[in-house]
Amino acid sequence: MRVLLVEDDEMIGASLRDALGTQGWSVDWVRDGLLAQSALADGDYACVLLDLGLPKRDGVEVLRRAREGKDATPIVVLTARDGLEDRIGGLDLGADDYLLKPYEFRELLARMRAVIRRRDGSAHSVIGAPGLQLDLTTREVVVEGERSQLSAREFALLHALLERPGAILSREQLENRIYGWGEEVSSNAVDVLIHGMRRKLGPDAIRNVRGLGWRVAPSAAGARAE
Ligand code: CA
Repeated sequence: MRVLLVEDDEMIGASLRDALGTQGWSVDWVRDGLLAQSALADGDYACVLLDLGLPKRDGVEVLRRAREGKDATPIVVLTARDGLEDRIGGLDLGADDYLLKPYEFRELLARMRAVIRRRDGSAHSVIGAPGLQLDLTTREVVVEGERSQLSAREFALLHALLERPGAILSREQLENRIYGWGEEVSSNAVDVLIHGMRRKLGPDAIRNVRGLGWRVAPSAAGARAE
């Protein structure tokens, strides 16, 4: 899954980018508030990690504009500002969570998962339908009760498809959800990924809709509504 990292401190940014990378995240890193805003406008991020003290445009302003523009991307504010006013102000402006530096990386990961789950409208760590579920904590897929592990990219792809079961996502939409900037994406990368996933999910779980894209099979998707 893709995360937008907004951090002007080179050392903090680099170590966060590397640590998130080892956890399978595709990280787009920007170092000022204006770039953060344009990245948010273009990108399809599962989550944003936002520093407040930023050059060019303050993080609070980035947050305020994103929410005024009806951008609902989950935003976790990471900041050294420990004043109560800043904290309340950030939450009032629509931050989903708040973490004060220094923090434990594992706690950051847990909070990222929590805000993404909340955005998915689920208090639980499992999304999907009874026949096809995705465990957001373990990154396992559960097909008819059978669990198997997904790679980071497989997880990002299935997560995108299960957000709105039955909805068709185009190749470009899926690529935007899976790959970060500067990552080499071959023209058939999504096909290869889905081909591999069918071994874990069954041949019909992800259907190709010719010329439009892919969606989770209606049988799996519809089970939730029935
Ligand atoms: Ca800063």
